[in-house]
Amino acid sequence: MITIAVAKGDGIGPEIMDAVLHIFNAANVPLKYDIVEMGKWVFDKGFSNGMTPEAQETIESLGVLFKGPMETPKGKGVKSINVTARKTWNTYANKRTFQTLHGVDTVFSKAGIPIDITIVRENIEDTYGGIEHMLTHDVALSRRFITRPGSMQVIRYAFEMAKKKGAKRITCGHKANIMKITDGLFLEVFYKVAKAYPTLKADDIIVDDLCMKLVTRPDTFDVVVLTNLQGDIVSDLCAGLVGGLGFAPSANIGDHISIFEAVHGTAPDIAGKNLANPTALLLSGIGMLQHLGLMEIAANIENALLYTLESGVHTGDFGNKQTAPIGTTEFAQAIINNFGKKPTHNPKPDTDDIANTCTVYKLDKNPMLESVETEQEKIVGVDMFIESNEQPNSVAEKCLAHGKNIFNLVTISNRGTQVWPTGSVFTNLVNQYRCRFESINNRALSQQDIINLYSSLSKDFKVCSLELLNMWHGSKAYSLAQGQ
Ligand code: NAD
Repeated sequence: MITIAVAKGDGIGPEIMDAVLHIFNAANVPLKYDIVEMGKWVFDKGFSNGMTPEAQETIESLGVLFKGPMETPKGKGVKSINVTARKTWNTYANKRTFQTLHGVDTVFSKAGIPIDITIVRENIEDTYGGIEHMLTHDVALSRRFITRPGSMQVIRYAFEMAKKKGAKRITCGHKANIMKITDGLFLEVFYKVAKAYPTLKADDIIVDDLCMKLVTRPDTFDVVVLTNLQGDIVSDLCAGLVGGLGFAPSANIGDHISIFEAVHGTAPDIAGKNLANPTALLLSGIGMLQHLGLMEIAANIENALLYTLESGVHTGDFGNKQTAPIGTTEFAQAIINNFGKKPTHNPKPDTDDIANTCTVYKLDKNPMLESVETEQEKIVGVDMFIESNEQPNSVAEKCLAHGKNIFNLVTISNRGTQVWPTGSVFTNLVNQYRCRFESINNRALSQQDIINLYSSLSKDFKVCSLELLNMWHGSKAYSLAQGQ
């Protein structure tokens, strides 16, 4: 018996979780459930992260959380409990599988185009850090972090999972043509990891092209790995290909703690009415059983689910409108009644259980993820982000009076487009400029040089923020302005 933590969630959460656990119990799944307090009502009790300290302790000691959808209270200052849980416990890979389900009509199932796509989305970094500031009254800034170790964790997981799944192709979706440094780093790590998996065809595709091709030729994709925001959008697109969020399971995988959940919300409009479709949560639960090595029982339950869908049984949110829908509990019972039956399409093979590879252990300090640095680094300049509603030439004139003998003012840009020393009067401006100061002859600068420039510049402008310009191994570790 393995014990896992279960959080039933809000809205339809308790109904669909009860339905899934009823199916698990009927199938004699060897799991014990420790029900933990998480969700909207826990926020309401005054716990600002939406879970009690006891719930956190239980989840951290058990290592697996099976959760229903949870409502995030509206208003500023409250972070989504779903995002907090994924980030706090470093579930760095969000794995979502999308397969054709016979009985769930889509344009592709009607056209006989089979879909079996797994999206692996980086789950911690990118703009999801939620590190945002108003720099001026008009200008908001969101910081987008892509890190080498963070990319390495998720990409390694994607390759390993693809290999175990018997995938033929693994694709990296990205926007490295525009975000050359951040997405460029993700792509670089992808091809570095790919070298260790020579039997997998590894390729990459720009994310907009990926979206177009997913909609026109979804059958050509197998495993796709993406950064957080792009992965978020692309995975919901894929959910649409197979019938919507009601059929989209989700696993958040970490080294120590993993979370299995449905990605749809709490559906307050139908909560408490026995109308909700438990399929997505059941598929997530099946993924959890596989994660725990319980392959045989996972395949049995999945076959019963696929058989039930094929036979036309459905809840109100999908299926043939000519046949009456059934409720959540009846749907669960129909699956139980079909235990032992195999679907015509895509039956899951009888597979032996595999050793449970998730190790739960107590950590006594936060793991530091750090790659070995071999490059020589030096600071060769600074981007000063200043507030001003003046014209570029007068901003430049003032800037040129600062940092003399140490810095050259090389470019001024507005929203990333160069407006000085050359530019166009057709470029609209906002009241924030980036003024790039580079050291004369690429001389290495000290932090004190930067502080002196900051202090001097602040006599003329409000300096909103700054970024150091680093050089590694003789190459610039920063992007050029558009038009520079
Ligand atoms: P939603 O997914 O709850 O509902 C959208 C529509 O889909 C509704 O009409 C709903 O009835 C239907 N629907 C959703 N799940 C269904 C199911 N299993 N069976 C049948 N119909 C279903 O999205 P929303 O209304 O935008 O969000 C409601 C709440 O859920 C919000 O508080 C939001 O923060 C939360 N939410 C939680 C999660 C999560 O816990 N992972 C994800 C998304 C939204």
